[in-house]
Order: sequence, then C-alpha cells, then structure tokens
Amino acid sequence: MVSPDVPVLRARGLIKEFPVGGSLGRKSALRAVDQVDLELHAGKTHGLVGESGSGKSTLGKLLMRLLTPTAGTVEFEGQDITRADRRQLRPVHRRLRMVFQDPYSSLDPRMTIGDIVAEPLRLHRVARGRALDERVAALFDQCGLSPAWRHRYPHELSGGQRQRVGIARALSLQPSLLIADEPVSALDVSVQAGILNLLKDLQQQLGFTCLFISHDLSVVEFMSDRIAVMYLGKIVEEAKASELFVQPRHPYTQALLSAEPPLRAAPDAARRVVLSGDLPSALDPPAGCLFHTRCPVAEPTCRVEQPELATRGDDEHLVACHLVLPDGTGPRL
Ligand code: SF4
Repeated sequence: MVSPDVPVLRARGLIKEFPVGGSLGRKSALRAVDQVDLELHAGKTHGLVGESGSGKSTLGKLLMRLLTPTAGTVEFEGQDITRADRRQLRPVHRRLRMVFQDPYSSLDPRMTIGDIVAEPLRLHRVARGRALDERVAALFDQCGLSPAWRHRYPHELSGGQRQRVGIARALSLQPSLLIADEPVSALDVSVQAGILNLLKDLQQQLGFTCLFISHDLSVVEFMSDRIAVMYLGKIVEEAKASELFVQPRHPYTQALLSAEPPLRAAPDAARRVVLSGDLPSALDPPAGCLFHTRCPVAEPTCRVEQPELATRGDDEHLVACHLVLPDGTGPRL
C-alpha cells in the first residue's frame, strides 16, 4: 500500500530530445520537453495546457513511459519507472492508463466494441468467461454505452460513442491514474460536454487521479483542480485552477486567458491580448526567457537570463517570470 503522502506520479527534471539531421551531416536535437517537474496527487485532476507544439502530449507519453526520457526521472506510486523495460512496465500499465485524442483511430476497426473493452481484462488475465461478460456489461453501463452495441464495430458508432468506448477500455483495469490527452478535441462541441461530465462522474465514483491535457483553457478549467501552463517544452506557471483563472501571473497565461475567456474569468480577462509572432521552433529556441520574443512586457534581462519556475506570492503558485515579485504582484497585460 502506497502512503497517501506519496504523489501518485512524480516527475523530476524531465527532458525529452528527439535527434534531427543537421546541415553538413551535423546532428542536432529538438528539445520537446525541458526540465519539467510535476506531481500528481491522489483523486485530483491536474490540467496541462498550452498551444499546439508546447510539448504537452510528449510529456504525457513520457509519464506513461510510452517514450523514454533523455534525462530526469518518473516515479509512479513510489516506483522509479524511468528506465523500466517492457516486462517491468506491464503491471504498471494496469494502473496507469491513457485515453487518446482521436477515437476514430485509437480503436481497432476489426474488433467489436465488446471485445475492445474486454481485451485489457483478457490480456492481463483479470477475468474470463461469465465474470468477464459481467465486467464488460458493468463498464458499458458506467460509460453510457447501450448493451445492444456490444457486437457493433467502431465505424457503426458516433465520435462521442467511440470516445466512451475508449474511456471504458481505459477504466477496465481500474487504474489509479488516467492520462487523458485531448480527449474531446476531435469531437463536435455538442458532444464534448457529455464526455467531460462522464469523466468527472467516473472520477467521483472510482476515485482515480487524472492528468487532463488540452489546448482549450475553458475545458481544462472545467476539469481541473490544479493547472500547469506549458510553453516551448517548459512549465511557465502552475497553480490551483481557481487561483490561476483569477490571478494569472505569467504574461503568457494572461494572454491565453484573454484570448479565450473561460467559464469563471478574471474581471478584466475579456480584454484581448494578441501575441505577436508564432511559437518559436523548439529546434532553435530563443535565449533567456523562451517567451521573450512574443512577450509584450519583455525587458533586456529577459533576452539573456532564463527565469526559474519558483513560488511567488504563496507556496502553491509557481511562475517563471523575472517581473513577478516575491509577493506575487507583477505585470498585467
Ligand atoms: Fe516576459 Fe520577461 Fe517575464 Fe519572460 S521573463 S514572461 S519575457 S517579462
């Protein structure tokens, strides 16, 4: 039994570089995740938000150990799984499951949805025969799937129904941690709320921990207790969801919030801040603060010194910006 004080998952100094061919045969590396520390606590939902290309999905795969980190460590339920091999990861992947972004491609089109949900239970030898049938029926019921669909194939279901199948499959082994990577971004807006509410209800019933990854701030706000904001592979701000949306301290978070007013927006968040330029390439990141090329309040120091992610204002609010003072006050865009 893992002590309740131990985070369900803890990452320290996580780095992921992908080799790329350079000019004149020289090799270089794309750093997709850069020195990330993260702790996920039991029964909570931790949101991870950032633009496309910010490294959040790569981070999710590192935490799942679908990718091996270049440096840093990952501990799951107190066990170091950084270099665990396939055999060692097998029992880990009973307790650590993922819901994928695209319900169209993440389900095997040749299998019935009953078999898709039953497969992890069979592979991990959790149930068979009548017990397996009953477990699958219970998962269908929990995830709002009609028992009549058990013999259908994925192409016979709608996108929302397919994502329910993906969730039922992910929960079949009663995981302690679910990593949901953009689980509603491929769905029509009209069905997104149903899937988000289902995930919330299931978490309340079953008590699993969740890492919820999305580019959509309002969705992350709805789902999360705590939120980390990523920019170019780094976490630039992390705080309780209620605090982040009322008092965003990093200029990037403020710009994101102003661009997409969330459900409980800060009073002045509707004033839109348009960032100039695109996300810089991770192949050639800027020196100093990674955000300085787009930051409306950048100062000369920002171009040479990288700010550290540190607590400012209170122990639970972390921010990486030179202009945020120790009491948490700082730039307002
Ligand atoms: Fe902007 Fe400078 Fe703060 Fe970076 S460190 S966010 S460039 S003010």
